[in-house]
Amino acid sequence: MLLVDKLVIPKYTPLIVVLDLYKKYYYLFITAVMNNLNELVSANGFVNVEVDPHLDLFAAIEKLKKEKNAIVLAHYYQEPDIQDVADYIGDSLGLAQKAEQTDADMIVFAGVHFMAETAKILNPTKKVVLPDLKAGCSLADSAPAALFKKFKEKHPDHIVISYINCTAEIKALSDIICTSSNAEKIIESVPADQPIIFAPDKNLGAYLNKKTGRNMVLWNGACMVHEIFSLEKITKLKHRHPQAKLIAHPECEEAVLNVSDFIGSTTQLLKYSQTDSAKEYIVATETGILHQMQQSNPFKTFIPAPPNNSCACNDCPHMKLNTLEKLWLCMQYELPEITMDEELRLAAKKPIDRMLQISRAAGLVG
Ligand code: SF4
Repeated sequence: MLLVDKLVIPKYTPLIVVLDLYKKYYYLFITAVMNNLNELVSANGFVNVEVDPHLDLFAAIEKLKKEKNAIVLAHYYQEPDIQDVADYIGDSLGLAQKAEQTDADMIVFAGVHFMAETAKILNPTKKVVLPDLKAGCSLADSAPAALFKKFKEKHPDHIVISYINCTAEIKALSDIICTSSNAEKIIESVPADQPIIFAPDKNLGAYLNKKTGRNMVLWNGACMVHEIFSLEKITKLKHRHPQAKLIAHPECEEAVLNVSDFIGSTTQLLKYSQTDSAKEYIVATETGILHQMQQSNPFKTFIPAPPNNSCACNDCPHMKLNTLEKLWLCMQYELPEITMDEELRLAAKKPIDRMLQISRAAGLVG
C-alpha cells in the first residue's frame, strides 16, 4: 500500500519551500513504492504485478538488457522461452565462470537460488536478480548448515568437497567446491591419503567413489528430480526403442547409472548427443536440456526418461518457477535482489576460487 497519495500546497507558499516540499514528497513516494515492491517480493517471491498481455516479452527483455547493461544467464533446465532469450546458457560450472567474468552492471540469473547466490559471491559489485526468490533446490535444502557442521566435526581429519548445488553456508564450511563437470578432476587433485567428506549429493558421491577408487564419506542428500526415474519403466522403454541409448546425469540412483550407455554432467550429455552417432536417446536428467539437444540435433529423437509415477516429476519444480514474465518483471523492477553478508560471502568464495583454479589448470574452463 502506498503511504503517500497527494501533496497539498497552500497558495502563496514561497518557491523555495515548494521545491523542498516536492523533494521530500518525491523521497517519500519512492520509499513507499520500494516498500510496496519489497512487500510483494516477500509475499510472493517476485514482484507480482499484472503484465500487459500484449507486451512482446522477448523484445521488452532485449530492450531492458541494453538500457540496464544487463546479462541474462540461464541454466539448461529453464523453460525453452527463457533459454531462447538468454545471453548464455550453461550448467553450474559455465554459469559460475560467466558470472565471475561479466562486466555487465546487472546479472539476471535464470536458475535457482544457490546459483544466483554463487554469482553474487563471485561478483559482489554487480546487482544480481533472480526471477523468483522461491526457486530453491531440494538438494541444497537437504544439507542444513547446522547439522552439516556437526557432521563435519565428527570427521576432524577430513577435508570437505561440496557439490556446487548447496547453500552459501555449506560452501563456507567446505574446502573445495565441484560441479558434475569437474568433480573427478577436483577429487584427483587431492592427495590419495587425504580423507574426504563429499556433500550434499549421495548419488553423485557414490558414483565418484566408484570412478576414482576413493572412499569418501557421503552426506545423505539427494535431488528429488534425479531420484525419481523408474528403472522398470526405463527398461520397458528400452525394449520399445532398442536402438536408443540411455544417457544419465550422475545425480541419478546407482541402478539407473548401471544400465546407462553414457553418464555425464548436463553439458557433457549435450556434447555427447551432438557427437555420438546414435539417432535416439533416452535422457535421464531434468527435461529442460532436451530443448538444446533437439535444437542442435534436429534429426535425432530425445525421449525423457520416465519417472516412477504419473507426475511430471522430471521437471524440476524449482527451476520451472521461473517464467518469461517473471524474468521481465525482475529486470524491470530489479527485484528480487540477492544480497549477502560480506563475511559469509568471503568464506564461501574461497572454495569456489579453489575449484576454478583446479578447473583452469585441468583445462576445463577458459
Ligand atoms: S534439478 Fe535437482 S539439483 Fe537441480 S535445482 Fe532442481 S532440485 Fe536442485
